[in-house]
Amino acid sequence: MKTELVGLSKEEIRKEIETLGEKKFRADQLWQWIYFHGAADFDKMTSFSKDFREKLKQNYTITRPKIVTEQISGDGTRKWLLEFSDGQRVETVYIPEEDRGAICISTQVGCGVGCKFCHTGSQKITRNLTAGEIVSQFMVARDVYDEWPSPSNGSERKLSNIVVMGMGEPLHNTENTIKALNIITDGSGIALSKRRVTVSTSGVVPKMVQLAKETGVKLAVSLHAPNNEIRSQIMPINNQYPIEDVLKACQEYQKIVTSRYITFEYLMLKDINDSIKNAHELISLMKKYKIGVKFNLIGFNSWPGCGYEPTPKNRMYAFAKELEKCGYAAPVRASRGQDILAACGQLKTKKG
Ligand code: SAH
Ligand code: SF4
Repeated sequence: MKTELVGLSKEEIRKEIETLGEKKFRADQLWQWIYFHGAADFDKMTSFSKDFREKLKQNYTITRPKIVTEQISGDGTRKWLLEFSDGQRVETVYIPEEDRGAICISTQVGCGVGCKFCHTGSQKITRNLTAGEIVSQFMVARDVYDEWPSPSNGSERKLSNIVVMGMGEPLHNTENTIKALNIITDGSGIALSKRRVTVSTSGVVPKMVQLAKETGVKLAVSLHAPNNEIRSQIMPINNQYPIEDVLKACQEYQKIVTSRYITFEYLMLKDINDSIKNAHELISLMKKYKIGVKFNLIGFNSWPGCGYEPTPKNRMYAFAKELEKCGYAAPVRASRGQDILAACGQLKTKKG
């Protein structure tokens, strides 16, 4: 059985090369072929002898998930349905901005957290993705946009940022997510700066500090409510990890990743969490915990069978104004790719 190379850490690749009886520096070259040049074919690795390439072919694979479908939204957002070798599927989204863009990647097939407003959550969890499957979503996007080799300055490229906000709860698949992000941010490979990677979590408290310590990427937290009563109603995970614990974990995160704001995502659901009173409750909470935060006010993206309605735009702006008056950035985030079900919380790859 051949071993898949995508998803192995640098250390693991070194061990493999050692086992083949090759010199150490070959491992670093192999890493560069895979992650700097994006080579998916051993024959393209021209700095290697024919013998070595044969050895690699006999023992290893470099696999990309298959693109089953590609949909392009009227606003330029692209969504790929990707299939892995066992037939399981996830969706990966590209969201273009004026001079750059973000790839939104998935960490699980489905999600076990079960937030009431989320289409992915209604799919339940099938399995975690491997580190290789997480990294390879970004690699597929680079193939599509022809952005190999890795740029020296990410901002010049279309694929400049990663948001781990696709299907799944990344901190229910913490080890693989961390491993994947460390591959993606390694300076001699894909070389995306940590500042350009954001992980979004529903608030898996015991894993948040681990993410900070082992990656140093930016954090976004799906807060969505100013108190436990509302949050538990829409996010069952709040019964396990209530708001106070989530905010304490954010304080810890910021002690480790000191230079970055934490983003609080606040999904606005009509008559559930969108009153001016709710905005004031949120402000009191922020004053108590003194975390360097900015908000993202998200409009609700509906999907077939959901029981919620979006907050009207004028009410969203009124809510934002209250936060801004107290010094918190609170942009109302424009929803992207809604027409192809590619917007936040709309991804799903199974019926039911
Ligand atoms: N599981 C992680 C990351 C993926 S979801 C998390 O929950 O944070 C990415 C963001 O989309 C989260 O903030 C999530 O709460 C939000 N979201 C989920 N369903 C949504 C919907 N129907 N409309 C708008 N945003 C939604
Ligand atoms: Fe899972 Fe995030 Fe959807 Fe909640 S919002 S069900 S955590 S993907």
